[in-house]
Amino acid sequence: MRLAKKTPGRDPVCRYRISRLGRAAVAVLFLAGTSLLAQQTIPPRADNHNEKQEPFRMIGNIYWVGHTQIGAFLITTPEGHILMDTTSTEQSHWVRENIEKLGFSMKDIKIMLNSHPHEEHMGGFAMFKELTGAKLIASKRTADEIAVGGRTDFREDGSEQYTPVKADQTISEGETVQFGGVTLTAHLTPGHTKGCTTWSMELEEGGEKYNVVFFCGMATAGIDRAPLLNNPKYPNIVEDYQGSFRLLKTLPCDVFLYPRATTIKLHEKRQRLNQGEKPNPFVDPAGCRGYIDEYETLFENLLAEQRAALQEVP
Ligand SMILES: [Zn+2]
Repeated sequence: MRLAKKTPGRDPVCRYRISRLGRAAVAVLFLAGTSLLAQQTIPPRADNHNEKQEPFRMIGNIYWVGHTQIGAFLITTPEGHILMDTTSTEQSHWVRENIEKLGFSMKDIKIMLNSHPHEEHMGGFAMFKELTGAKLIASKRTADEIAVGGRTDFREDGSEQYTPVKADQTISEGETVQFGGVTLTAHLTPGHTKGCTTWSMELEEGGEKYNVVFFCGMATAGIDRAPLLNNPKYPNIVEDYQGSFRLLKTLPCDVFLYPRATTIKLHEKRQRLNQGEKPNPFVDPAGCRGYIDEYETLFENLLAEQRAALQEVP
């Protein structure tokens, strides 16, 4: 594995949320010493409701090894494999099952990367590191956050969100991870989290070359969790989001990937793939651009709303 500098160079809501009422209930129950009951105050979310999903090859050497909703991707090479995201602490063992069901071995996972450090996407890293010994590579800001189990996540309250895990190496804007003939380029796209990392790679299928983009996520949270203005936990959040949208628009993108099934129309595309559709239905440049445009509009609207609300304050 080599790191090289390259020259030139509303997620449907993330996280199992505990409502304010839920937080109060959690606090009361915790004080009462009934932490087991506190678990039950986490409301079920339709977009986080996972069931087991049969793993499958999406395109080229990329496999979906995640669940019915939350994704994890396996990128295979003759020298070993790269795992992108792990899903949650609770459900990452399904990812392991899926990898083995495909006939791949856990010990052949050599590198782990992530989109962003929210629990439902990376809670399984601690377990996977222990099982595989793979090298975890992350942006500096993600590395800092996962080292303390998400305590510094600006959306959260400073409590531990998942088992802390140490990145073995950090990666900067435009740097690449080269392994087994695959080159993945890191694009830092902060906003959703401070270390949000979008990854791109090229692959070939049926004699055609495609640009693949693993989007990090550009969703904004509500004003109660992540105000865009006067946010002491993230003073330059607006500039970061705007810079990330600008950067994303420059990336060539044919294959639109994101670790949520509904966002990338996973199940519909899988059905079309099974019917033998050519070119591969995961080739979806309109999906790439549509994702960026949709979330940029949501962001700009939210920003305008929050600016207007500030002006109304007497
Ligand atoms: Zn997220």
